[in-house]
Amino acid sequence: MEGAMVQAEAAKGRGLGLSELAPRVVQSEIRAMTVESDRVGGVNLAQGVCDTEVPDVVAEGAIKAIRDGHNIYTRLDGIPRLRRAIAEKTERMQGLVVDPEREVLVTSGATGAFHAVAMALFDPGDEVLLFEPFYGYHVGTLRSLRVVPVAVELEGPDWKLNVDRVRAAITPKTRAVVVNTPSNPAGKIFTRAELEALAEVAREHDLFVLTDEIYEHFVYGDAKHVSPAVIEGMRERTIVMSGYSKTFSVTGWRIGYVIADAKWVGAIGYFHDLLYVCAPSPFQHGVADGIEQLGQTFYARLALEHEVKRTMILSALKDAGMTPHVPDGAYYVLASTAGLEHVLEGTNAAERSRSLLKKTGVAAVAGSAFFRAGKGEDLLRFCFAKKDEDLEEACRRLRGLR
Ligand code: PLP
Repeated sequence: MEGAMVQAEAAKGRGLGLSELAPRVVQSEIRAMTVESDRVGGVNLAQGVCDTEVPDVVAEGAIKAIRDGHNIYTRLDGIPRLRRAIAEKTERMQGLVVDPEREVLVTSGATGAFHAVAMALFDPGDEVLLFEPFYGYHVGTLRSLRVVPVAVELEGPDWKLNVDRVRAAITPKTRAVVVNTPSNPAGKIFTRAELEALAEVAREHDLFVLTDEIYEHFVYGDAKHVSPAVIEGMRERTIVMSGYSKTFSVTGWRIGYVIADAKWVGAIGYFHDLLYVCAPSPFQHGVADGIEQLGQTFYARLALEHEVKRTMILSALKDAGMTPHVPDGAYYVLASTAGLEHVLEGTNAAERSRSLLKKTGVAAVAGSAFFRAGKGEDLLRFCFAKKDEDLEEACRRLRGLR
């Protein structure tokens, strides 16, 4: 009798309920601050949404594609014209020769790229190194696949790579290192020398290097964007992920891509197909038009315009009494609020960002969102990819803090 009851209990299985991971999931600070900012009618410098103009050729290309009937699934690796355009611009700008038929996969944003890459390359329990401050989606995606993210600290204030820290973090379970250059949130650009040092470690320990280059065109001053894929001997083990969300201000279109050795692309494409089937067809056409028709002056102007915005926000943050880290790329500033205890309430970054929103109507993200627990509590992240009038208004409000 007792045995039958035990059997019946066992046959019931786990019943209704969330996965083991789900209850531990917390809403991202970025989304939380966006909601908060909208609620109080603030200027949102929290979310990395560039609200600058979409280039005409890109917008018109997508509209025309819809009218021309490009509204059905595309090949799982994307339309040939877009893959060719991506391969050509990669060769032109980085000197990396890429086969558009076998080594390019069009994805649902760089986010979809990262997810599919992680599914294709890693097993549960594998460890993957990321540099801190890190981009939360990288960490969250790895965790969602039961892959263990291991943070390796970059050394502030310039966020220098200390390769000894990388070596110290490697265990027999380590499979890859994630690079994000230019980075969110620090605006760090890995130098060629740093990438060469990292490449040596990757070769020595037979690791993949996953590189998220979504901000490749947002580079300021003398800084140069270098992809780990161009470092000698790195082509086979480097998976490049990038996209057009930021470059063409089309974050909602979901057009990204992977460039990798053909032997990895098949499996990455398989998992991307399971997740997304394909990237949206008309938007693939619009982005292909943009890459084909916009020349070097477009990219140079994009960087220059954002460099001006960077100067604006840095000056306002200093006037507000904060100490900003100067980013070499991307479009975020991490600024220290140390010394502002008398104006900003709260003992941690999440509380201070809410206090800042209350006092100035400017939303920023708590720096702690980009670090392991207990770190980044004096930092706030400000996004400056905003229309000039909105950024000017945010700067005016920030200056009023003191
Ligand atoms: N990677 C980084 C480092 C980002 O900061 C972002 C957006 O904020 C993304 C990827 C998202 O890119 P996509 O819109 O192509 O998915």
